[in-house]
Amino acid sequence: MALLTILEYPDPRLRTRAEPVTVFDEAFGRLVDDMFETMYAAPGIGLAATQVDAHRQLIVIDTSEEKNERHVFVNPVILEKSGTAVTEEGCLSVPGIFDEVQRASHVRVRARDRHGIEFEQDLEGILAVCLQHEMDHLDGKLFVDYLSDLKRERIRKKLDKERKARGTSTTAPVPARVPAL
Ligand code: ZN
Repeated sequence: MALLTILEYPDPRLRTRAEPVTVFDEAFGRLVDDMFETMYAAPGIGLAATQVDAHRQLIVIDTSEEKNERHVFVNPVILEKSGTAVTEEGCLSVPGIFDEVQRASHVRVRARDRHGIEFEQDLEGILAVCLQHEMDHLDGKLFVDYLSDLKRERIRKKLDKERKARGTSTTAPVPARVPAL
């Protein structure tokens, strides 16, 4: 297994639309494993393939405390949405930034698992929010797109400054906070 590099906003590759997965071979299984390892190490609770520069419709999620509930969604399609949830979201591609986003509180999704087997699942709460956040990544969309232009510009400048600071220092200045998706 290997840790993958997570792209950071405003990297234009984060705007790429992911292609459907058609081959469920050993290499694909390795990508799934590497994405889980990368997500746990970050640490985060969700990761879309777009974020590791693999532009395929693949999402991994684990919102459990014990980190033992692995969810894999390949070629996900939302069949139903209902309710509203406002959550303070974070993103591994927008490190250290958290803001409120409104999404559906319940979704029914159809997807394939890592072996290509199709399934349907109802998701509630943080799991539903997380899936919608990750599905946005597959469309080249980021949670900061829901914020005002002014806020987004401030975030871009802040990250730029932090990246420059990181370049001259050996210690990582940004403390981790969850949820990072
Ligand atoms: Zn994200």
